Amino acid sequence: MNKKLKLNNLTASPRYTRSMKKPQIVEPVSGSTATSSENTTSQYFLNKLTEKKLQAGTREVLVKKHKNPIKVEYESEPDDERKAGEAALLQTEIVKSEMDEKWEPADWRVILDNILEMRKNHTAPVDSMGCHMCSDPNANPSDARFQVLVALMLSSQTKDEVTHAAMKKLKSHGCTPGNIKITSKETLGQLIYPVGFWRRKAEYIKKTTDILLQQYGGDIPKTVEGLCKLPGVGPKMAHLCMQVAWGEASGIGVDTHVHRISNRLGWVRKPTKTPEQTRVQLQSWLPKEKWVEVNYILVGFGQEICLPVRPKCSDCLNVNICPYGADFKTSCSQSVASSGCEYAHYQFQYADDVN
Ligand code: SF4
Repeated sequence: MNKKLKLNNLTASPRYTRSMKKPQIVEPVSGSTATSSENTTSQYFLNKLTEKKLQAGTREVLVKKHKNPIKVEYESEPDDERKAGEAALLQTEIVKSEMDEKWEPADWRVILDNILEMRKNHTAPVDSMGCHMCSDPNANPSDARFQVLVALMLSSQTKDEVTHAAMKKLKSHGCTPGNIKITSKETLGQLIYPVGFWRRKAEYIKKTTDILLQQYGGDIPKTVEGLCKLPGVGPKMAHLCMQVAWGEASGIGVDTHVHRISNRLGWVRKPTKTPEQTRVQLQSWLPKEKWVEVNYILVGFGQEICLPVRPKCSDCLNVNICPYGADFKTSCSQSVASSGCEYAHYQFQYADDVN
């Protein structure tokens, strides 16, 4: 087959015919058939003009073909507002369901007793180095409360051992509002290093100290709302501060341990995503007289047995009644049978927990 024949065959093929349906550039208009205005226009621009008209026509067709409604994306609300909204919604849902039926997790008393039994030797870091152990017992009550607040601010994203060591250095330096006021941010940073986010925390402590001196006479606020207005203080810290510094059970202090263990134990009606959601759910069923102790009990339990990664379910007294422990037993028996590895197929949840 010669080249010419090949070309003829190609031009007659269905593929080529389909391509002809696409918008085509109009061939240059011959001089005899062109209008007067066209005659005064360059042939290049005439072609371009025709092409544009055709493209506009194609766009029109495309717009008409777009039958589905256009999805409008709104800007997300600021994080704080969204969280507050979520919390309020959750609270409403719980209150509503509480009116319908009283809910509490099965066997929670047995589970709590078992945890108390496992915690009876007080060997967890929180027992000797928690925030309740960080203030100077000889300090005046107002300064001691200030030290509790500072310890709580340092404890976020930081192990108890590190917080306790930083507080020891701070107390040697003089951890009173008056002394922190005259301490530079740089020196304060060096004193609290290496707690997590030490630079930002030094800044928060300085700002908080100024507020306490100006508005509270050097003492700390006695309400959750007042505490939450201080820089770097959230609901968890505020509730723990109310308990440790003022001896009041304003709410459950839910940190990463309490949040994780509550979800594993099924102590929340639905799995929760944030410690604040967990706090609201726990408070809906746990008797108020348990609010203070539950944080302390679960934190130590989370440090020693119900670890963020690879919880020691085989050592746990709750292994037969904990939903997560039941999964553990199943996965262990399967993995041991198949590979001999005790932790094969095990789920690594909460790997980002630090303390
Ligand atoms: S059985 Fe495992 S997951 Fe459940 S409470 Fe005990 S250690 Fe935690």
